[in-house]
Amino acid sequence: MMPLTSTSHRALMERSMKSIPGGVNSPVRAFGSVGGDPIFFASAQGATLVDVHGKEYIDLINSWGPMILGHNHTDVIDALREQLDRAVSFGAPTVQEIELAELVRAMVPSVDLIRMVSSGTEACMSALRLARGYTGKNKFIKMEGHYHGHADPFLVKAGSGLATFGIQHVPGITEGTAQDTLVCPFNDISAVENMCDKHQGEIAAIILEPVAGNMGCIPPAAGYLQAIRQICDDQDIVLIFDEVMTGFRLAAGGVQELASVTADLVTFGKVIGGGLPVGAFGGKREIMSHIAPLGQVYQAGTLSGNPLAMTAGHVTLSHLHEHPEYYARLEHTGKRLAEGLQQAFDHIGITVAINQLGSMISVHFSEVPVTDFSSASGSDISTFNRYFHHMLEHGIYLPPSAYESWFLSLSLTDEHIDHIIHTTKKFS
Ligand SMILES: *Cc1c(COP(=O)(O)O)cnc(C)c1O
Repeated sequence: MMPLTSTSHRALMERSMKSIPGGVNSPVRAFGSVGGDPIFFASAQGATLVDVHGKEYIDLINSWGPMILGHNHTDVIDALREQLDRAVSFGAPTVQEIELAELVRAMVPSVDLIRMVSSGTEACMSALRLARGYTGKNKFIKMEGHYHGHADPFLVKAGSGLATFGIQHVPGITEGTAQDTLVCPFNDISAVENMCDKHQGEIAAIILEPVAGNMGCIPPAAGYLQAIRQICDDQDIVLIFDEVMTGFRLAAGGVQELASVTADLVTFGKVIGGGLPVGAFGGKREIMSHIAPLGQVYQAGTLSGNPLAMTAGHVTLSHLHEHPEYYARLEHTGKRLAEGLQQAFDHIGITVAINQLGSMISVHFSEVPVTDFSSASGSDISTFNRYFHHMLEHGIYLPPSAYESWFLSLSLTDEHIDHIIHTTKKFS
């Protein structure tokens, strides 16, 4: 690959910082926690990223999830080219929107109606507004260390970049907003029961990542999701699964399918757009019918359902829908990586807690199992930061934060995985 520029990453970052806050358009891209300069990328193919100097990396972020097929999949690119020749945007109905909506409904049985938006943030904030509008109640429960995008009500004890940068309290979120956000530790059902008792009749919704992915990957404890479902049924609370990260990644039907638990509303993002900006929320007809123009709960978007974005999402989901065996392959890749990394760290005498489910995996430098935010934040960040730079130097691109899950794509081969394990063995 021809180098795009000989300008160093440091110089590019200095230039970027003159125009863009912190030089980045999303904080998790900054190397604020791991130190050093972010890499500027030029191109990508399959499992490989190429930076502006032509150096190659194995990608374990995959744009934070969307590129599950790998980069530049021929069918996605061809379909985008065809759409480009037709039009980029109308702000009026298109067939592409129906096609994606129908495909999501075929893959996720709990979705009767679905509304497209342009990000996971929009999906979650709209789903919460709908739950409040539908129930006429104001408060909601979220879990500590879970991330539902950057809308005000969710920025209380949140994961992702807030965990990475140690932001406990976000200036600009009013007390009035924060007082309606109730927070429970993840995987602690009695905490949810107590909170619901304390605020009987006031809780509109419980929203959670059914498999947490923004404080590393943390699966739910056995029976936890079922117990939450029961509480919601007993107390007329809307259960929202935030599957922005897990939707179409862990199974065609997401965690709802894996755990056999049906949410009332579900939010999507990331994979649903195949690398273009798409989010969506959907669920029970009875609740979704309250969204404008059917109902009074207002929600809108100039570029919602954009034809280019719908096209990338539709081709990506079609592949996943038509090839159920892809999920077995992703599980194989994930397991091979998890087991190999465990052996590699044993070999070099470093204690780690590795959590893996399908194509989501995280490595915490922790002596104890990681099951919630408090165990996740007890891990050794400085060892992670050294490990991150060791891997980067050897051409392996991990998320630049100890709190982020790694995302595997279908383009990763056993050889890639073995190379990652081998490189880990050289860490000291
Ligand atoms: C990424 C993410 C979001 C936010 O999505 P954006 O597209 O970044 O706004 C919300 N919820 C979860 C679980 C996510 O992983």
